[in-house]
Amino acid sequence: MARTQTDRCPGVLAVHQAADGGLARVRVPGGVLSVQQLEVLRSATRELGDGRLELTSRGNVQIRALRPDGPRELSDRLYAAGLLPSLTHERVRNILASPLSGLDQESRYDVLPVAAAVDRELCARPALAELPGRFLFALDDGRGDVAGVRADVSLRAIDDREALLSVGTRGVRVRWGDAVGLMVAAAEAFLAERDAQEWRIAELDDGENRILNRLALQPTEDLPTTSTRVAAGQHGSALVVTVPLGSLTQEQAGVLTEVADEVRLTPWRSVVVPVVSTEELERVGLVTTADSVWEGVTACAGRPGCGKALADVRADAWRVVPGMERDGRRVHWSGCERRCGKPAGDFVDVVAVGNGYLVDGERM
Ligand code: SF4
Repeated sequence: MARTQTDRCPGVLAVHQAADGGLARVRVPGGVLSVQQLEVLRSATRELGDGRLELTSRGNVQIRALRPDGPRELSDRLYAAGLLPSLTHERVRNILASPLSGLDQESRYDVLPVAAAVDRELCARPALAELPGRFLFALDDGRGDVAGVRADVSLRAIDDREALLSVGTRGVRVRWGDAVGLMVAAAEAFLAERDAQEWRIAELDDGENRILNRLALQPTEDLPTTSTRVAAGQHGSALVVTVPLGSLTQEQAGVLTEVADEVRLTPWRSVVVPVVSTEELERVGLVTTADSVWEGVTACAGRPGCGKALADVRADAWRVVPGMERDGRRVHWSGCERRCGKPAGDFVDVVAVGNGYLVDGERM
């Protein structure tokens, strides 16, 4: 297998050099962080980066503006905190799971232990260190919140005996006992089928069928292509807390470490904590209700982090979003036409054009 392109996906050991300094992406399989780990991340960004923790659409964390000697110190700290269990596989641990798994009535099966098992199995197989950093596993507890995120390999709970294993969009029912082995085998099959250029199964010609054939599986169902976003507010024994623009400040991260033993990061730039009094969370600007103006608002890095950005989109969003008309639609702010991080489906498209913004193609 000849590799003709370098995998530029950032990690902790492969830091991306952005316009504002080093950018490290910390994989958090299943989105689960102990408060001790959150505290390590919080102090690391304060002492080595720009002080914020950036939440990603895959439930991971990014630290920006790392100073030149930052990456080494950061990797030492994360290793000690258990956030870097494999030096060879760190960028391939992309495992998204339903953040409310096991916490409310909609959860048909707790997929977080399955996510942890996939992570262990992935890291135990040396060949899988070659997976592209964009390759994604998703585990949906049956509510349909992550099944439609276009993961490469996904599992959706049907009941406590069976799940729908999908390669791309083609799925087959499997028993839970076989699920972890089959997910990892699908990733191995992708590497075997991959030529040189493909980073995702969707990019591989007839990839879904080729991989399922290798696994001797006959697809019977299609995976849904849309997901149901979980809004801020109480869900069973959990509270979903939106982080405006996905940028967690020192103060906000500090309050989160005081209210929970563990937090779960969601693909919607929110955080799951146990049900607690919301006063302290709201005091530091976290959002605990679904009717907030910050619900469903995202932005790319913009200036000064991205060299291509035509505006400081986050600063502008802070100013404009509270008074913005949007008819309940999601909103995405982009610093240029690439629209990094835009959500799937319908959204208000705000794009910087150098001397202002276009909103859905019209000048703001
Ligand atoms: S959309 Fe443009 S400005 Fe924003 S992060 Fe992507 S490349 Fe940079």
